[in-house]
Amino acid sequence: MKTNKIIVIGGGYAGLRAVERLAKNKSNEIILLDKNPYHYMQTDVYDLIANEEDFAQITVDLFTFCMGFEGNVTFFKQEVTNVDFENKKVITPIQRYNYDYLVIAVGSRTRFMDNVIGLREHAYGIKALHRAMYFKQKFEMSLFKKVDESGTYCTPLSIIIAGGGLSGVEIAAQMASFSREFYQRNNFICRKLNIVLVNAGEHILQGVDPVLVKQSDQRLKDLEIVIKNKRKVVELTKTTVKLSCGEIIPMDFMIFAGGIEPNGLVQNLDVAKTQRGYIKTNDYLQVEAYKNVFALGDSTTIYYNGDPVAPTADVAEQMAELCAKNIEALMVGKNLQKHNIHSRGILIALGRGYAVATIFGFHLKGYMAYIFKKIIERVYAKRLDYRSKQGCKKIFDI
Ligand SMILES: Cc1cc2nc3c(=O)[nH]c(=O)nc-3n(C[C@H](O)[C@H](O)[C@H](O)COP(=O)(O)OP(=O)(O)OC[C@H]3O[C@@H](n4cnc5c(N)ncnc54)[C@H](O)[C@@H]3O)c2cc1C
Repeated sequence: MKTNKIIVIGGGYAGLRAVERLAKNKSNEIILLDKNPYHYMQTDVYDLIANEEDFAQITVDLFTFCMGFEGNVTFFKQEVTNVDFENKKVITPIQRYNYDYLVIAVGSRTRFMDNVIGLREHAYGIKALHRAMYFKQKFEMSLFKKVDESGTYCTPLSIIIAGGGLSGVEIAAQMASFSREFYQRNNFICRKLNIVLVNAGEHILQGVDPVLVKQSDQRLKDLEIVIKNKRKVVELTKTTVKLSCGEIIPMDFMIFAGGIEPNGLVQNLDVAKTQRGYIKTNDYLQVEAYKNVFALGDSTTIYYNGDPVAPTADVAEQMAELCAKNIEALMVGKNLQKHNIHSRGILIALGRGYAVATIFGFHLKGYMAYIFKKIIERVYAKRLDYRSKQGCKKIFDI
């Protein structure tokens, strides 16, 4: 039987869903390449910060996950540096891999703008797990320092979050809600906490359903978060942040969630790109000029009714489902299916036990929305964890 060699680059939301779907066909021989040995559930990072989950609970081991299939999926921890599209080869510093079909699902990265003085040196990102872990430890140490100072003096803890998008808003709310509970639960006297959300737009959550924007804005205010709209961060020192309006705010640390950009590999690839540098794909999610190459998730931009679809995990997974179908169609010479992908809903966690959501046009708010978000996250994690456990069993039963 002829085998089809498929390489998936990136074990994120899109990559793993593509592997799951493509592995169902036993004549597919799949190689998954990722620079990290784990899948990082970025959508659950707010739980990591609030100590509700540890890093093991928001990651899935890619070796055991791939071992959990029936022998037709192999994982290599390697960073892809380029692709030779003409000769159908994926290039890593260690090896070159041949493919018949290629899926590029390498996500995006935090855009640390060079024109913001001190940004790289003094701000934390959260798109990579090691950065999120580092920031979490820093946050805890800062809380401890304040507790340690109690009885002598009580200076406020100042946290700045730059970026009023989904991730900035979720992190701000979670930190405010967590620290509040922390101080109250432990009866500490020194409870001064200043969280400032700096947002370049007219309001937070640009492009999101106006009802959710209003609800989220109110919730952040209830959590005593100061929102500074129509401002940009222009300069950072170890202890201060300067805004575009000239204001200088003291800070203990800053999270930068002010935007994403194409990942380094995407920047290297010799393929057609969008104006913002993402991989250009057609309606079937194929990369222009290479019909056997697909780009998914945050590494590309798709459009629905003429508007760009916001990059989310939900959209990345929908793209993976269609990509798997279209690769199968290509193999047997059938017509490919055009995408009709758009966001099925949005769930925004706003502190412990509180979220706002729209799902298929319906609005939810408060504890119900929070539970709904939790269920979605748990179901997703359980499915991957089950596969990973199967793989683990195989290794230890040998
Ligand atoms: C804090 C935060 C909260 C979020 N909350 C939500 C939410 O609530 N709901 C939602 O739907 N979305 C949310 N998102 C967005 C969502 O996480 C992304 O849209 C999603 O991760 C995109 O999936 P992806 O598969 O394209 O990329 P990713 O999940 O980023 O995966 C890319 C993978 O490629 C690997 N990789 C990168 N470069 C290489 C290379 N050169 N070689 C090999 N491997 C490589 C990476 O290690 C990674 O495993 C959130 C994002 C953040 C940061």
